Amino acid sequence: MSRAPHPTTRRQLLKNSLSMAAATAVPLGWRRSAWQAVPTAGPANPFAVVLGTSQDGGVPQANCFTGYCARVRSGEVPSPRVACLGIVDPAAGARFLIDATPDFVAQLGDLVALRLTSEQPSRRTGTLRIEDELQGILLTHAHMGHYAGLLHCGREAAATTHLPVYASTAMARLLRSNQPFKTLVDDDRLDLREIIVGTPIELTANVSVVPFSVVHRAELTDTVGLLLEGPSKSLLYVPDADTWEGWPVPFEDWLERSDIAILDGTFYSAEELGHRWQGEVPHPPVADTVATLSARTGNQPAVWFTHLNHTNPLWNAASAERAAIQDAGFGVARRGQTWEL
Ligand SMILES: [Zn+2]
Ligand SMILES: [Zn+2]
Repeated sequence: MSRAPHPTTRRQLLKNSLSMAAATAVPLGWRRSAWQAVPTAGPANPFAVVLGTSQDGGVPQANCFTGYCARVRSGEVPSPRVACLGIVDPAAGARFLIDATPDFVAQLGDLVALRLTSEQPSRRTGTLRIEDELQGILLTHAHMGHYAGLLHCGREAAATTHLPVYASTAMARLLRSNQPFKTLVDDDRLDLREIIVGTPIELTANVSVVPFSVVHRAELTDTVGLLLEGPSKSLLYVPDADTWEGWPVPFEDWLERSDIAILDGTFYSAEELGHRWQGEVPHPPVADTVATLSARTGNQPAVWFTHLNHTNPLWNAASAERAAIQDAGFGVARRGQTWEL
């Protein structure tokens, strides 16, 4: 696979990434009213698009009425929505979602608004069949922010038929065995396709995805990260992890194979949660990740953080924390950001 030469410094890396993001940015309603139609076109080549960047509980979080949550509640700024990535191959006429979040309806709307090469706008009238618009959902794990949106596929809502859902063996077993998801499987709303870590999934002729094991709280299922491989770029997606250490295949190995990495940025520091012991919900603090990745040698993908908790100071673009990571050559993913694959 051909790869672009890698920039030599982190500062140059971020500069290149920012200009690339600006060149390919798709206005997915960011800073627009939620009801406004957003007909638009993405790049012609396969691409990934950010559809949400918050931790599972979203922004605002149910129990938070201050800070960034208050600004979103008042309508001053739009919700960043729960962490989710779209994959689009315009030529193949295919779209995929990574994770089915509580914001599934809005995120599917943003994804479908990115018209495919072969589509005529006139087709978009009345009620659509989701399975005509979306060729599959890839699930990372069974925490609420990553699979609760599947419920919209049921009889009470979109009533899909055989919508492909890619999941690990443990995740597929959980869906088959537990209500309310069991009914979705029994009624053929979903077509469960078990994935095997290390074995690529060919989504289209141009895009494949390699799932791999991630160390993350396994109350219900294991967790997978995904390496997206397109004609020219590879993108590493790990929105949720306890640590970068002790993975069955080392995190470093996946960095080596990536041009772009979108990584867990849940907490900026280890003391962020105040009222709650943060060890209950372990995540590698962004400050530590930046220090660790800055010190390593070898291939340096352009790194963007996602899955931010509502408490994270990185939400504030004017914060000292945001300036610190940008100075080090790292970025915060934002809704509507795209990368060609
Ligand atoms: Zn999560
Ligand atoms: Zn999780």
